Amino acid sequence: MRIAVIGAGIIGLATADELVRRGHDVAVCDPRPAGGASHAAAGMLAHAAEAAWGQEALMSLMAASAARYPGFVARLAASAGHAVGHRVDGTLSVGVDAADREALAALAELQRAHGLPAERMTGSAAREREPALGPAVTSAVLTVDDHQVDPRQVTAALLTVLGDRVRPESVDAVIRTAGAATGIRLASGTEIEADAVVVAAGLGSAAIEGVPSLPLRPVWGDILRLRIPEGLRPLLTLTVRAQVRGRSVYLVPRDDGTVVLGASVREGSVEGVQAGSVLALLRDADTVVPGIGECEIVEMLARPRPGSPDAVPLLGRVSPGLVVSTGFDRHGVLLTPLAAEVGADLAEGRDVDAALLSAMDHRRFTAAGDREAAGSRTAPALADLVGALPEGSR
Ligand SMILES: Cc1cc2nc3c(=O)[nH]c(=O)nc-3n(C[C@H](O)[C@H](O)[C@H](O)COP(=O)(O)OP(=O)(O)OC[C@H]3O[C@@H](n4cnc5c(N)ncnc54)[C@H](O)[C@@H]3O)c2cc1C
Repeated sequence: MRIAVIGAGIIGLATADELVRRGHDVAVCDPRPAGGASHAAAGMLAHAAEAAWGQEALMSLMAASAARYPGFVARLAASAGHAVGHRVDGTLSVGVDAADREALAALAELQRAHGLPAERMTGSAAREREPALGPAVTSAVLTVDDHQVDPRQVTAALLTVLGDRVRPESVDAVIRTAGAATGIRLASGTEIEADAVVVAAGLGSAAIEGVPSLPLRPVWGDILRLRIPEGLRPLLTLTVRAQVRGRSVYLVPRDDGTVVLGASVREGSVEGVQAGSVLALLRDADTVVPGIGECEIVEMLARPRPGSPDAVPLLGRVSPGLVVSTGFDRHGVLLTPLAAEVGADLAEGRDVDAALLSAMDHRRFTAAGDREAAGSRTAPALADLVGALPEGSR
């Protein structure tokens, strides 16, 4: 099949790679390949540490994708000829005050209820494990199954493997013939014929002509990269996620002697790096790991995450030959192997596990009555479903 993929973030690239591996003729278009949210991401694969009450659907998706990661990175590193920063050291979630301790205890309970290995520790036991932790840390939970990749190395590897299938051009429209997607039109006016189109343009997905409106919103994240002085290395061996008097911060150590410090979660009009967010991140990181103050700031940047109303992706077949794969919010790196597999299955017209699809189904935003009605349709139209949303939630 000829398949056009719109968007070369980690989701579009991995989906395209999966389709190429299955023998398809693939074209990927993006004016700024790997320059969106994927460029900013810390790369935590934290399906246990990011467990949250009321997010069972998302937790199942995260666990399913985490299970696919070892195979995904091994294959990719072998094809690209370089590693992608996959580290399996585990994640330590730490807290400072009594409320942080309670939040951690609740997290550990939820993790255990879902069969995720989680070891509760005192502050001193955590410091034995990670000596750089400061005296303010009073409690911790170790989740050994939470790993990390370097998303920039992952996208670089995917770009290498895909080669000139990736075209640095913007897409204006999905071309439809008799209701079915039959190609894409680039901003230059050039048309590319295709038997199926995958829209993986992150936040840009809804602005493409021929794609139904999607309930996406920008969820901004400010993030820093710091170089650790030689004398302090390795500052950390585990990824450290902290609750500091109710605020979240994380530190992700990389093999190259840097540490990623993130990230704010904010909405609003500031599109560059927000001063207050950086101030809070540095202050909270310094509370947890005082050595942070000695490090050199090598990068500060902000990117919008493609947020959905409930932080669960929007992945499904919208109409014949047209697949959307967006709304990955705060978990797109972790969800990549699963998204690539499901997106490729849908583009090929295969059946996909019903439980997986219903978790990411756009119909979840409709009123109960509409959902029942939608349940009787064989090929629900996303435009109808999203159109039923209240104005403020789109
Ligand atoms: C600060 C920060 C930290 C994060 N940390 C983590 C983490 O630790 N773990 C995790 O799992 N997730 C993390 N995330 C979330 C993760 O980065 C995103 O969920 C993921 O990158 C989404 O990938 P994507 O490919 O859908 O979107 P993007 O990476 O944004 O890619 C979309 C692409 O589409 C292109 N595009 C847009 N419009 C068009 C068009 N008209 N034509 C062609 N191309 C178009 C854009 O140029 C862009 O390259 C983080 C995000 C941020 C911002």
